[in-house]
Amino acid sequence: PQTKLPNIGTTIFTVMSQLAAEHSAVNLGQGFPDFDVPERLVQALDRAMREGKNQYAPMTGLPVLRQAIAAKTERCYGYRPDADTEVTVTSGASEAIFDAVHAVVRPGDEVIVLDPCYDCYEPAIDLAGGRAVHVALDPAHFRPDWERIRAAVTPRTRMIITNTPHNPSGAMFDGADIAQLEALLHDTGIYLLSDEVYEHIVFDGARHESALRHPALRERAFVVSSFGKTYHCTGWKVGYCIAPPALSAELRKVHQYNTFCTFTPAQAAFAEMIEAEPTHYEGLGAFYQAKRDRFHDQLLGTQLKPLTVPGGYFQLVDYSTVSDLDDASFCRWLTVEKGVCAIPLSPFYAEPPRRQHLARLCFAKNEATLDAAIERLRAL
Ligand code: PMP
Ligand code: GLN
Repeated sequence: PQTKLPNIGTTIFTVMSQLAAEHSAVNLGQGFPDFDVPERLVQALDRAMREGKNQYAPMTGLPVLRQAIAAKTERCYGYRPDADTEVTVTSGASEAIFDAVHAVVRPGDEVIVLDPCYDCYEPAIDLAGGRAVHVALDPAHFRPDWERIRAAVTPRTRMIITNTPHNPSGAMFDGADIAQLEALLHDTGIYLLSDEVYEHIVFDGARHESALRHPALRERAFVVSSFGKTYHCTGWKVGYCIAPPALSAELRKVHQYNTFCTFTPAQAAFAEMIEAEPTHYEGLGAFYQAKRDRFHDQLLGTQLKPLTVPGGYFQLVDYSTVSDLDDASFCRWLTVEKGVCAIPLSPFYAEPPRRQHLARLCFAKNEATLDAAIERLRAL
């Protein structure tokens, strides 16, 4: 019998986390923090459950949380979305991405994705009956090549998916990229799905170019974020989508029959947290920059060559001086034989570049975890 996703196996994140556990490797593979969630947030969650906030939330999200997201968006990007018609709370950014794709992609439509790209985009497109059109980012610095993207547009193009700061490279769009994207979309009916889950993890004073800052983009955009990244709680799976009323209405049709609503106590807790500490976001860049810098300096004492990381919580390393293995084999070897789990880049590509010797390490970890990994990496 014909299956619907014949080319999809288990995700690389699951595969590598299992391998890390089996071999007691330090897990710098799958992206998740190993430090505590803010105490205030844990207490707020506990209180929400004790206060009986345990039944279905409104389909679109708790009003207090949607208001808090709207206010926070205005503080960050100078644009206040309407909390009732433009903000939808979802079960992680993953659900928002799935819903947005299914809201607009019809059988036969094309969706441009920029490789390497996060692994949940293409299966959503496939299930909607669409086709992902892969355009490679420039392998030197993982920035978009707008000429090539323009050349990939056809009358069937329905959507383009962008991701800044970028997983796995950390690359970020700048003002010139935004101008190019605006020019590309001008006078077309192409929608933008802007994956901004690492929006607050940006370094060296850089500005996150949210699509929400730019009227010509936000009028056609689904902008997706995740509290998992911002509050160190990837397992809570709460995210949201900001989109114009007409697009939000379509997204909500999918959301209401997908999950209907998202874990109520966490929504109450995030609303309280945002109100109590509205500037939490501003400290996140510095918090992760200290980790990035320390880890980078430590890596210089190994044979792995760290690449520049403008944002996000992943460090790419070039391992060419250590091994000539392909990246999947190298990461498996590193996990099993050397006790450090990393993620290969090839699963993020439709066509992985030949002889690209890069692996991804997550530095959202306590110093002790990173120190333990470095000690093992020094012995390569
Ligand atoms: N997009 C990117 C680029 C991600 O890295 C992740 C999470 N790892 C997601 C989306 C999904 O976020 P969530 O866990 O909130 O579903
Ligand atoms: N986004 C995480 C990463 O890139 C993984 C999330 C997952 O395992 N689905 O590592």
